Formats: sequence, structure tokens, C-alpha cells
Amino acid sequence: MAKYIMALDAGTTSSRCILFNKKGEVVSLAQKEFSQYFPQSGWVEHDAMEIWHTQYMVATQAMAKINATAKDIAAIGITNQRETTIVWDKETGEPVHRAIVWQDRRTAKYCEQLEKSGLTDIIKDKTGLILDPYFSATKIKWILENVPQAMSKANEGKLLFGTIETWLIWKLTGGACHVTDYSNASRTMLFNINELKWDDEILKRLEIPKEMLPKVMPSSCVYANTAKELFDGEIPIAGALGDQQSALFGQTCFKEGQTKNTYGTGCFLLMNTGTKPVHSKHGLLTTIAWGIGDEVFYALEGSIFVAGSAIQWLRDELDILDSADDSEYYANKVSDTCGCYVVPAFTGLGAPYWDPYARGAIVGLSRGVNKYHITRATLESLAFQTYDVLEAMLNDADIELSGLKVDGGAAKNNLLMQMQADILGTDVQRNACIETTAAGAAYMAGLAVGYWKNMNELIENADVDAIFEPQISDAERNDKIKRWHKAVESTRNWEK
Ligand code: ADP
Repeated sequence: MAKYIMALDAGTTSSRCILFNKKGEVVSLAQKEFSQYFPQSGWVEHDAMEIWHTQYMVATQAMAKINATAKDIAAIGITNQRETTIVWDKETGEPVHRAIVWQDRRTAKYCEQLEKSGLTDIIKDKTGLILDPYFSATKIKWILENVPQAMSKANEGKLLFGTIETWLIWKLTGGACHVTDYSNASRTMLFNINELKWDDEILKRLEIPKEMLPKVMPSSCVYANTAKELFDGEIPIAGALGDQQSALFGQTCFKEGQTKNTYGTGCFLLMNTGTKPVHSKHGLLTTIAWGIGDEVFYALEGSIFVAGSAIQWLRDELDILDSADDSEYYANKVSDTCGCYVVPAFTGLGAPYWDPYARGAIVGLSRGVNKYHITRATLESLAFQTYDVLEAMLNDADIELSGLKVDGGAAKNNLLMQMQADILGTDVQRNACIETTAAGAAYMAGLAVGYWKNMNELIENADVDAIFEPQISDAERNDKIKRWHKAVESTRNWEK
């Protein structure tokens, strides 16, 4: 019996490979950064070949580190930066252009045109997304229009499109398998999440030929085996999930209402809403969480633009911290924020406010406020922003919150996690395994090949590091939230 599951974690800045054992523990890890290209303001590109080469390299390195052979690997699962778009030649296997990364805004004007032509509501109803350059559709369109002969070749069926997992599966199988999973398909802005198929109307409006799109498959199933020449034996590729959905699965948020928050540079909140899509009234995204067997699960997704980066601001601009880790120590030097609130709306406010004209503020200052209070209030702002997005989700979905599971760099801050529990009035759970994103894809692959028997086995595996319980009264919580909203209000429309 094979000993490990291999997770390929194809991130935005690096390719990683993690081998997990049956208990869900990390037994080997290899990582390699790759180049970021910024050819113009607002443009971000990757070299798809470099992504493939680094990904293959770290896979062999992770195996070599523990002397594992192909026989030791039960299956491969892939998790990936979402939306990033690659178009390649079916015959030669050569990308026709660099990958256009999710952050890339080059299609903003085109999105405005689509909006004017009345596509906004159609996109929202059919794909669950907001019409935005972020998603793959307009990036594909840009490549077809700007690469010589791309449009005619695509129409002749000579070009293929894929997000990163599709590209990697195609490379891993020597060009034999052109597939994606439901979670990644739902980020293209071309996939009808209600009918679970590529949407002919949207494809027609954007003039994207259907022939170039991959086949959409469940997130957990054997897509194909790796090509013979890659490893010392064939390995089944059996799982694929977009990174945020993968963290949701890796956190074992299998049931409706279960929610995870990743505290990184920004925050990514995903709530499992069960087997029916919930359309948001607060500007949240409706997305497919995963497909297993015949069932598709959906999620509501909200992001917070400035989270951990507010701590970096304290460190780099205000110079009141030496490191992000110090924030906990300094904030603990005082018992409260002395009535001050920090609203880090540096680039405007996202969900549920959607105010691009808001700008940051520190309010409630009195003579006694010092740098420790400001540090504490900045940490609190992460918890308040999370509260706002979660409230919006709960209103949209009409479901009860059953705790919050956390991961990401800033989730190791115990004070922040306690603040989060206090402000939400619910338990906050942090797992011992911090590789939740990679774990999600590994779990998908492991379930597909019977390495893990069922989802209960995965829940039993989850090793809890800490649970933070609310410690303040409802009255105190309500008062804090009221003041936070007053603080947010003071930042609205600042730039207008
Ligand atoms: P990303 O994946 O977005 O690069 P990470 O998950 O690596 O982010 O988390 C890094 C972010 O978390 C940084 O913005 C940093 O300021 C913040 N951070 C890291 N450690 C702490 C900490 N102990 N307390 C608060 N914030 C932290």
C-alpha cells in the first residue's frame, strides 16, 4: 500500500510540493519561487513553462528528500492560484503568451464595455461572479485578440485554454488529458454554476470558442495517470481544487454553515452553503466549493483587501513594530485600545460596503492613546472586518454560524484570535497543521483512490491546536461593533 499523497501547491509566487501521510501530517516539503513579470502598470504575468518546470522539480525533490518512489505515492492532488489564464498550442504544447495572472487589470476597459452592453446581471446570475478583470474570461479574450492568429487558430480547434491545474494536469499526462474541476471552472466567468456547464450565451457574447475549454470534472476523481517518463512509475492524478476552496476542504468545513478565514496579506473568507448556490445581496461571490461524486457544494466568498498588510503598515510606515510577530507582544502591553479605532481602508472598502472612495482613518483619539493602543486597534480591525463579511454571509445564506476555522500567517497571533472570538461571539478554531491549502487537494486525491476511506476519517485526523472562546458580554460586544461601524462611517466617500 502506497504511503503518501502528493499535493502540488501551485501558488502565485512559488511552486510547492508537500507529501502527506495517512494521518494528514506533512512528511516532506519542497518549494521554489518563480519569476513575476510586470510588463506595464496593472499587468502581471507568469511564464507557464517555468511554472511547470518548477512544479515538476519540487515534486521530484520532495520525493527524493525521503527516498520515496512512485510506488509510495498513492495519488497526486493539485491546488492552485485561481483564475490565472494560459492558452497554448495543442500540437506543440507551447503557450502562445505568458500566463495572465489573476491580479492583472488589463481588461478593465473591456469589462466596462461588457457592463454597458448589459452583461452584469447575466454574469452574476449564471456564474455567481461580479463582472471583473480578475476572472479568466476577459483574459482569454485578450490573448485571442492580441496574439497574432490566435483567434483563427482557436476557431480551428488548435488552441487550448486552462487555469493552472488544467495546464499542470496536461503537462503531467504528456498532453493526454485536458480537464478542470468544478471549483476552478467556477472562477472563469464562463461556467454556469446553476446548470453545471460552460455557458453558451456568455461564450457567444465574448466570442470564445468552446472547443478550447477543458472538460469539467469532479474535484475528487482519477483524471489520468502521469506520463511514463516523469517518475519511476505512473501515479494517478486524482484531485484538483482552487486554493481558497482547498483551504475550506483542508479545514474539514464539509457541512453547510462551516466557514474558514485565511489571515494573510488580505483575508479570504469562505462559507460552505451546501448543495444550493446562494446569491448574495451584499456583493459577495457565489462559487463552487467542490464536486464529489454526483454532488456539488457551493460557497459564499468574501475578501478583505487590507488585513496582515495593516500590520506591515505599522512596521514599515509607522515604524512602531520591528516585526509582524511583535504586534501581539505590544498590543498586550495595554488592556484595551483606549477608545481608538483604526479603519485600514487604504484602498477603499470592500464587502459589504463597496466604497472605492473610502480612505483609512484612526478615530477616537484622546491624549492618552499611545502606540500600543494603535497596534491593538489595528489588530482589532482585522477582527471587525471579518465580522462585517461574516454578517453579510449569514444574512445572504440565512444560516447559523457554527464556529470559525482559521489559518494563514496572522492566525498564529493568539491575541488576534481571542479578539476574533470576542467580536464574533463564537468559537475560533486553529488546527495544528498549517498547510490547510495543500491538505485540501491531498484529501481530494486521497479520497478518490481510497487512501482515506471517507470524510469522517479526515475529521478524525484534524489535530486542533487551539480553540478561542468568546470572553466578553453581549453588551460589550454590541458596543464595540457599534463604535466600529461609526468609525467606518467616518471614512466613507473621503476621496469623492
Ligand atoms: P500571504 O499568503 O498573503 O503572503 P501569509 O499567510 O504568509 O500571507 O501571512 C503574512 C501576513 O500576516 C503579513 O501581512 C503579516 O503582516 C501578517 N502577520 C504575520 N505574522 C503575524 C502576527 N504574528 N500577527 C499579526 N500579523 C501577522
